[in-house]
Amino acid sequence: SREVCPEPSIIELAPGLTIGGEQLVVMAGPCSVEGEEQLIETARAVKAAGATVLRGGAFKPRTSPYAFQGLEEEGLRLLDLARQETGLPIVTEVVNPRDVELVARYADILQVGARNVQNFPLLKLLGQQDKPVLLKRGMATTIKEFLMSAEYILSEGNRRVILCERGIRTFETATRNTLDISAVPVLKEQTHLPVVIDPSHSTGHASLVPSMCYAAVAAGCDGLLVEVHNSPETASCDGPQSLRPSDFAIVMEKLRQFAAAA
Ligand code: PEP
Ligand code: MN
Repeated sequence: SREVCPEPSIIELAPGLTIGGEQLVVMAGPCSVEGEEQLIETARAVKAAGATVLRGGAFKPRTSPYAFQGLEEEGLRLLDLARQETGLPIVTEVVNPRDVELVARYADILQVGARNVQNFPLLKLLGQQDKPVLLKRGMATTIKEFLMSAEYILSEGNRRVILCERGIRTFETATRNTLDISAVPVLKEQTHLPVVIDPSHSTGHASLVPSMCYAAVAAGCDGLLVEVHNSPETASCDGPQSLRPSDFAIVMEKLRQFAAAA
């Protein structure tokens, strides 16, 4: 908490890249890794637009067991290829404790999905890794519970935890979830950890993503996690909320203009 650690934590994500300081870190890429062409094309586009981390799921925690579950290790290999092609570090989810070692071999940042926010054995294991962890808030997790989940990782010795607000479940159905934008200043008041906003899973609609990116930055977040797909129409997962590369480039340009004007 802020009481124990009054200064904000500046966390190294990869050599030469930190989060929690002055710079906004934009993590972008497809929901899932689907194949080489899809991933490399999208990775090149997000890099050209100014993203500094590539996202992409190889292990997908889907609501339906019949939905696409991810390419698993083949997906990790493709992420490694995309990293070699673009130089972008990789953030990818680990769903099952038995895969932590495998995913940690490929990933630069280990992601915990909303559904696993209270998977305590997974969190403890991630607390023993030498990689930063992006911890997503669950869809029905209070701030206090969210911070206790972060504590499970920190207390095992891993100090590199990044908090991610990705929308919570409310009565509203116009959006996929309700983005709790106030979580940014609340978390900033209560903790020293960097805070990232996911405008994609919180809204569920690509048309709403740009305005939530700007709102998140205005609220003081340290980073964004944005789904971008080279062909949202044919995406095997979360196409409707994925930005086209050209729309993502417009968002990035506006963010640069805001930063220059600030
Ligand atoms: C994701 O970011 O790939 C994801 C599955 O999101 P969430 O865990 O927030 O639903
Ligand atoms: Mn997704």
